[in-house]
Order: sequence, then structure tokens, then C-alpha cells
Amino acid sequence: MRSTNSVTKYPWWFQLAEKPLPEPLPQREWAVLPLRFQPGLAELEALLHDGVAVGPVLCCPRHRWLYVPVAPECLHSPVGERLGVRGRDLSCPFDTRHRAGCDDRLWLLPADPRYLTDFPALADRMYRVRRSAPPRLAAAACA
Ligand SMILES: [Zn+2]
Repeated sequence: MRSTNSVTKYPWWFQLAEKPLPEPLPQREWAVLPLRFQPGLAELEALLHDGVAVGPVLCCPRHRWLYVPVAPECLHSPVGERLGVRGRDLSCPFDTRHRAGCDDRLWLLPADPRYLTDFPALADRMYRVRRSAPPRLAAAACA
């Protein structure tokens, strides 16, 4: 049984400042997948548990959104479009009432932060979890 009470099951490292960008982002091109904090965090931790690559994830505790840098090709893949992958934009546009209130954003870092998050694996998991699997998701070749 999974507990729905614990916020996290993974020993993330934290970078308590948004800048500078953590490794490997400065050397890479990337796009951004915005995810709601839940179930996004649980899905990312499930990937880590399965040994799938997960990279740095920007977290806005106030707005409860996660921003997951993924391979830039995801921007133009059908699955990427469906899940809302956008360009290199880490801003929090979701709630204008708190536009000035994103100052506590932090990076969640996996133990081995060499990679970008494996988007096809994450997308596959998201569809499986939400039980709306489109056919042949493996065709989302944007890793
Ligand atoms: Zn925010």
C-alpha cells in the first residue's frame, strides 16, 4: 500500500536557490514539462525507484508546481504537446495573485544529477497512472 500522507519517499538533494542552474542544465539544451506537485512528484519518484533517469526538477512550493527539464525534442513531439511541454521557460504563470511570490523556489536534485529526466518513460508512466493510455506511446521518440 502506498501512503498518501508522505510528501516524498526519495532522498532528494536541494538547491535552495533558483540560480545558478544546476548540472547538467548549463551545458544542455532543454525544454520544460510543467507538472502539478502531486501526482508529479510521486511519478518522478516512481521513475527513480525503477532506475529511470531523472534530472533536476524546479519546485515552486507556493504554487505547487514542478518544472521538469526534458530533452528539447519533446517540445515538438505529439505526446510532448499533449502534456504541455514548453520552451526553456521556468516561470510560474499560473496564478497572477502570487506573481511576486515565487521567491522560495528550489531545485530538487537526484543523487546522480547527470541526466535530464527521461520524458518518454515519464509520459508512459503518467498515461498508465491515469489509465488513458494512447496506443503506441513508445512512438514518442524524443529522448
Ligand atoms: Zn510559483
